[in-house]
Amino acid sequence: MEGPFWVKRTLHQGIVPCQLLIREVAHRVNPILRSHGVRATFFLTTGFIDQPQLPWWGEIAWMVRTSKRRGVEGTPWLSTQVIFDEPGREQAVCTLLSKYKSLPGEATGAYLDCLAEATGSGRYDQADTLEMWMTWDMVREMRQGGMWFGGHTVTHPVLANLSRNQQEEEIAGCKKRINFWAGSE
Ligand SMILES: [Zn+2]
Repeated sequence: MEGPFWVKRTLHQGIVPCQLLIREVAHRVNPILRSHGVRATFFLTTGFIDQPQLPWWGEIAWMVRTSKRRGVEGTPWLSTQVIFDEPGREQAVCTLLSKYKSLPGEATGAYLDCLAEATGSGRYDQADTLEMWMTWDMVREMRQGGMWFGGHTVTHPVLANLSRNQQEEEIAGCKKRINFWAGSE
């Protein structure tokens, strides 16, 4: 597999690769689209560009897939045991993601900390994610080349679990950043 180290590692560890290949879009997909005269719209989660990070769904998957434990149980967040033994590991990822999606936004940080401990995997080292996302320079260059950008919130939360103010911040904050860097003329 060609590509930067994190692409290989991401695929190797199976950290929901599709969402993480966005930097590759700027490097590879963009020139191909351009050479065929195709204009595309890309939806950006601006917080991941401003502050590169492994998103919550990737971090949960990573915690489960790298865990040396057989499962988690007895946490305040989960009423039943969640088993990591194969072939149940991928099901465990889905179960823990569903739980995340059901939580009010302000509880999600504590939930991730709890899983970090319960899986024994700890939190993902976010210093590893600097090369993961597009930069604003790449966005601007693509915009100048005729591509379009739409909003996909600031931090990619589950919007339905946020207060109205937080929802507005996620949507308007995202729009502001995209307008600043790649605004339509
Ligand atoms: Zn999304």
